[in-house]
Amino acid sequence: MTNILLIYTGGTIGMIKNPLTGELESFNFKHIHDHVPELGRLNVHIESISFDQPIDSSEMNLGHWKIMAEMVSDHYENYDGFVILHGSDTMAFSASALSFMLQGLKKPVVFTGSQLPIGTIRTDGKENLITAIEIAGMQDEHGVALLQEVAVYFEYSLYRGNRSSKISANQFEAFQSPNYPELAKAGVQIEWQKDRLFRSPLNALNVFTAFSDELALIRLFPGIHFGVYETIFTNPQVKAIVLETYGSGNAPSDATFQALVSNFIARGGVVLNITQCGSGAVQQGAYQTSSFFERVGVVSGRNLTSEAAITKLMYLLGQPSTLDLKQKLQESLVGEMD
Ligand code: ASP
Repeated sequence: MTNILLIYTGGTIGMIKNPLTGELESFNFKHIHDHVPELGRLNVHIESISFDQPIDSSEMNLGHWKIMAEMVSDHYENYDGFVILHGSDTMAFSASALSFMLQGLKKPVVFTGSQLPIGTIRTDGKENLITAIEIAGMQDEHGVALLQEVAVYFEYSLYRGNRSSKISANQFEAFQSPNYPELAKAGVQIEWQKDRLFRSPLNALNVFTAFSDELALIRLFPGIHFGVYETIFTNPQVKAIVLETYGSGNAPSDATFQALVSNFIARGGVVLNITQCGSGAVQQGAYQTSSFFERVGVVSGRNLTSEAAITKLMYLLGQPSTLDLKQKLQESLVGEMD
């Protein structure tokens, strides 16, 4: 029997309708078996811990990611796998963040949640929870965990955490991983795609929770008034900017914008170029409208999701200043990009 630690952070999944008031309320996760008796029929031993104050995932911040990472690392030796119950809204950010915080994982960390509370009749929460637990407990014939990375399980699909994005506010199929195929698909059986699984070169778990928030995100749009953004480019607290550009990394050849970018980089700032497109990659220099980026030293984020770009920068900015940040940005550190 494998031992699984269920970490409850909040979100819709852990709520149940109060029959008197009709309101959704968080239930005590120690009583998870009362709400999902099917868990008793799984061949796993489950224990659970919870945030002191379960939260809507819109409230998540760097401190919460640190708590989650420490909940995993503090209990790492005692469990075979970890399932983190989390609101779906910012789950892809948390999963990306934890992939950088928990490097060298040899055990599964599976995020899941639901669009409907676990207490409602049509809930997607039960299947998500039960299968996530099953996945987190799966081992090969030598007792080695199949999954050794941070992943998101939602509506029959298992995705690499730092490749996933929430794509629907109301469909049960709320997540996608457009630039990396599913790690596993749950049907009658759980079909693993073993060649897609990440294996860390590190021998032991290394925990990096010192993330920095000294960064900004700017999404371009036609007609953008770059003067409005000057305060971001000149703010001394902004060490890095993620630019969400068009198509394969293109931007207008606006003189104000180009001056802001090149002066920011000249002062030591880092600009990371990612695409607004749901899939595909930045290719700086493919068009004249992106060759400026190449000339001034903007880093291509290739096919990073926004969630992975932001959390990767938060991780790297939190590292000692001796680290070659630009170089590290261009490496795929935990399977986050090609
Ligand atoms: N607002 C909720 C949250 O992200 C939605 C959900 O749980 O799916 O916490």
